[in-house]
Amino acid sequence: MPVNHYETVTQETVDMEGAEGCQVRWLIGQGDGAPHFAMRQYEVARGGFTPRHQHPYEHEVFILEGQGVLLEGAVEQPLHAGDVAFVAPNELHQFRNTGETPLKFLCLIPHVTTDSGNAVSRDCTVE
Ligand SMILES: [Zn+2]
Repeated sequence: MPVNHYETVTQETVDMEGAEGCQVRWLIGQGDGAPHFAMRQYEVARGGFTPRHQHPYEHEVFILEGQGVLLEGAVEQPLHAGDVAFVAPNELHQFRNTGETPLKFLCLIPHVTTDSGNAVSRDCTVE
């Protein structure tokens, strides 16, 4: 039952097309022996955003710090620390930092999609 501080996990730049100022830490994943889910921590710099994208699996999101918006298609919802957001499979979505400080959030994903059983790759696509 490992316990780690999130800052000990290496922060990687998100190089998906459409990402700007976006970094991720894979806090818990398959490499840690987690059989079903991965927990990632995102940090979006001031003015930055995640790619506007969709995929056949869900996100469970917890906003840790900062302010932003979640674009759900064309609908914009404000995000503040303590908010939780559920992105259902196949919903078009994007996280944007609208504040002066980094927008930090947890984003959980399954290792495989429940509909097809296909593996979810580290860059959020489905293999
Ligand atoms: Zn996504």
